[in-house]
Amino acid sequence: MRKRKTTIESRTLKARWVFPVDGKPLPGGLVEIHGQRIVEVGSDSGRSDVEDLGNVAILPGLVNAHTHLEFSNLSKPLGEPGMDFVDWIRRVVAFRRQTADTSHEAIGRGLRECIGSGTTSLGEIAQPGWPVEQFEYADIEVTVFLEVIAPRVERVAPAMEVAQHHFDLAETARRWRPGFSPHAPYSIHPELLAVAVALLTAEKAPIAFHLAESREELELLHSGSGPFRDLLDELDAWDPTAIRPGTRPLDYLRMLESAHRTLIVHGNYLDDVEIEFLADHADRMAVVYCPRTHQWFDHRPYPLAKLLSAGATVALGTDSRASSPDLSILAELRFVAERYPGIGRDVVLKLGTINAARALDRDGELGSLKPGKYADLTIVGLPDRDAADPHDLLFNSNEPVLQTWFRGVPVDKDYKAATGGRAWC
Ligand SMILES: [Zn+2]
Repeated sequence: MRKRKTTIESRTLKARWVFPVDGKPLPGGLVEIHGQRIVEVGSDSGRSDVEDLGNVAILPGLVNAHTHLEFSNLSKPLGEPGMDFVDWIRRVVAFRRQTADTSHEAIGRGLRECIGSGTTSLGEIAQPGWPVEQFEYADIEVTVFLEVIAPRVERVAPAMEVAQHHFDLAETARRWRPGFSPHAPYSIHPELLAVAVALLTAEKAPIAFHLAESREELELLHSGSGPFRDLLDELDAWDPTAIRPGTRPLDYLRMLESAHRTLIVHGNYLDDVEIEFLADHADRMAVVYCPRTHQWFDHRPYPLAKLLSAGATVALGTDSRASSPDLSILAELRFVAERYPGIGRDVVLKLGTINAARALDRDGELGSLKPGKYADLTIVGLPDRDAADPHDLLFNSNEPVLQTWFRGVPVDKDYKAATGGRAWC
């Protein structure tokens, strides 16, 4: 039988600025695409076959390392700014109970919002039983971290059965990738981490773990008491064997040390020794900073400069609409650029691109504009002015994301690939 010929499309895009991320920004830069991949990134040498996109920036597709899309129907965060963290958790638990039937619709809405704001790869925390088809047909790559809550030791074995099922389902997945999220020190028995690290190392898949997020968490770890203990008692979820007195986040980092890839989500209260530990393991442990979620609570200032100067891998996440105004990584980048004027703008851009891709173990394929990588692109409008540093045009601006390209194809306004796509919600 003769093989049918297929035409693989080639296109060359030109922009006022191209930000390759692993090299200097290119004025009047070109990105040449063949099929799903980038084949060339460079400067315009007078070629006539380019598509000039005008006064825009071409970035690698933005990567959001941490979301919970089940909250995407919220128009504003739960509670009030600066609220008590444990009270906020109570609201989250109540909200989940009320909205379990509509989480499918919220996830679809969240995926559309992410794509519309330029995100092409996502680390999503998912609940057991969610239909994974939503992630299979979206024009965005999703690492689906199955979340497990198992505060008592007797819940560890059933939780691992659910995890194994998730990895079995992933064997036939085309687009989504599996990950695992033992939720947080206050909601899982440490025995779960020990068995999860063994499974995830065998699967070469990432683990996401919320750690050092609040003062109340540190209090629970240190003394087994405080507002979290009250909450666990209320939920009949306290297991006296789960937390030994004097426990600290470092103990959990050590438990995760041999995992294939770990995302430490938040890390708001990491101490200097823990920051050094993360820097020493920067090749396989990343910290996910969720800037506007951090701002929502009354946390101490985020140790961003310290983490970066120590050499830790820091990625950005939006977290969910239960604590963030929206799901835009570009908005997070602009927030960080404004709040941390001492951090290089090129470094800021890495937080939402190559660093977040590295956190998800996808930096070989995503996160920078480089021949051989996927042609996942974010096209951002630029203001009508000049700047000494072109990053200033990107960050000191309200210009929106104009287009999101996924695997060499612009995603249309319904967020369905312009060619060959399939509706997914
Ligand atoms: Zn989270």
